[in-house]
Amino acid sequence: MTGFHIEHFGCRAARADGEAIGERLRALSESRLFQSDLVVVNTCSVTAEADRAARAFIRRAHRENPAARIVVTGCYAQRAPEEVARLEGVAAVVGNSHKALAPEIIFDLALGKPQPGNIPPTLVSVQSLMAGAPAHAPVWADDKFAHTFIEDAPLALGAQTRPNLKIQEGCGNRCTFCVIPFTRGPSKSLSRASVIGQVQSFVATGGKELVLSGINLGRWGRERSGSRGETLAGLVRTILEQTTLFRLRLSSIEPMDWDDDLIALLREFGEPQAESLSLGRNRPAGRLARHAHLPLQSGSDAVLRRMHRRYRPWHYAEKVARLVDAAGPDLALGADVMVGFPGETDREFEETLAFVRALPFGYLHLFPFSPRPGTAGWALQAKSPVPKGAIEERMAALRALADEKARDHRGRFVGRELAAITLRTPLPLAARGRTAALTENFLPIELEDSFGSNELLWATVTGLNQDGALGACISG
Ligand code: SF4
Repeated sequence: MTGFHIEHFGCRAARADGEAIGERLRALSESRLFQSDLVVVNTCSVTAEADRAARAFIRRAHRENPAARIVVTGCYAQRAPEEVARLEGVAAVVGNSHKALAPEIIFDLALGKPQPGNIPPTLVSVQSLMAGAPAHAPVWADDKFAHTFIEDAPLALGAQTRPNLKIQEGCGNRCTFCVIPFTRGPSKSLSRASVIGQVQSFVATGGKELVLSGINLGRWGRERSGSRGETLAGLVRTILEQTTLFRLRLSSIEPMDWDDDLIALLREFGEPQAESLSLGRNRPAGRLARHAHLPLQSGSDAVLRRMHRRYRPWHYAEKVARLVDAAGPDLALGADVMVGFPGETDREFEETLAFVRALPFGYLHLFPFSPRPGTAGWALQAKSPVPKGAIEERMAALRALADEKARDHRGRFVGRELAAITLRTPLPLAARGRTAALTENFLPIELEDSFGSNELLWATVTGLNQDGALGACISG
């Protein structure tokens, strides 16, 4: 077997990294022939479970295909390169600090070169710095993060109907539970010209919906803001005014980065507009998806302080009120919530539960706290861990509330007509003559007919089934 396989773990931004590596590898392999099997493992390290999942996959890949060269990249490769390099079957480790060079490093390894030949001389090998702890595989990782963006990987309509365009990397905050500032370095932004070029090339390949993503997306352009006044709101306006992209969606943005200008864009471009591109039977739809994901983590003031989060519950609630006012009640509001942060008392958890209950969330992502080596949370955990049983109980309570809220939110749309885009439909669903689609306001629906992916249409929601899935038919 020749060719390559990429396995993705982690968040939207990590997936965007993996897709960019894949695109570059595809481009390289068109002109040169792969001579060996290759598996690229794009890892996450946001929890201990993410590390375990990556190790399990690497072991399985080696067991099932011992001839394959396994290259490990991503957050786990950056956080613990020596540990990864010692795993059986690993041929190279490329940390996030060198991710932009990953395609060339991987390609040279695939050609069987003993030392990758395309690497700029500035490359630092951590292996050479680790006297007395030699890794089995070569390692490219350092703490300078000079090669973190894969800027020239063209974004095209490919494996995903709605791809992520990662425009921001790294984070300058220090939330006490988070390992990301260590695995991805400080905030860096893709240039405005690159972003616009990427959007235009996506549109030229027939793409219709794009998701802007980043590790801390709301910080886009801020490292340059002193001289050029660049903000995410300014960039979004430029995309909507200077390209013909049909729909833009924003992924997770920190609560305090939803500034007045960004919120105002939801009012201006989220609502259907007479002058926007037509959809279906000449009916217009909003071009900025009415969808806002604001990480919450906790509804307790005291816990947020211990987490070193930059807002308090009332700041968060105020942002939500303004978002709903701008986007209207159809807004899809989502959040991440963490359970069992060190020292979290029953009362603090009750505060979170009450806070979540009071806000119009359409969906929640729930996580138990996972201590990460090197973070302040690691030491806090040693001092005041929350018992495992309490975490399980709290997760169950929050899960029940999240299910109830999601069901209530979805149920409100039965009988309503919504703009949607068709997706790649999983085979079992397609076999039943149905099509998976996603509405502009982030509701997954199942259409009662067969369509190809990437079609824009209007759908009428017909019902909510036991599993919480929404049935829909094409609007007449
Ligand atoms: S804002 Fe906090 S949680 Fe988000 S990436 Fe930065 S440090 Fe991590």
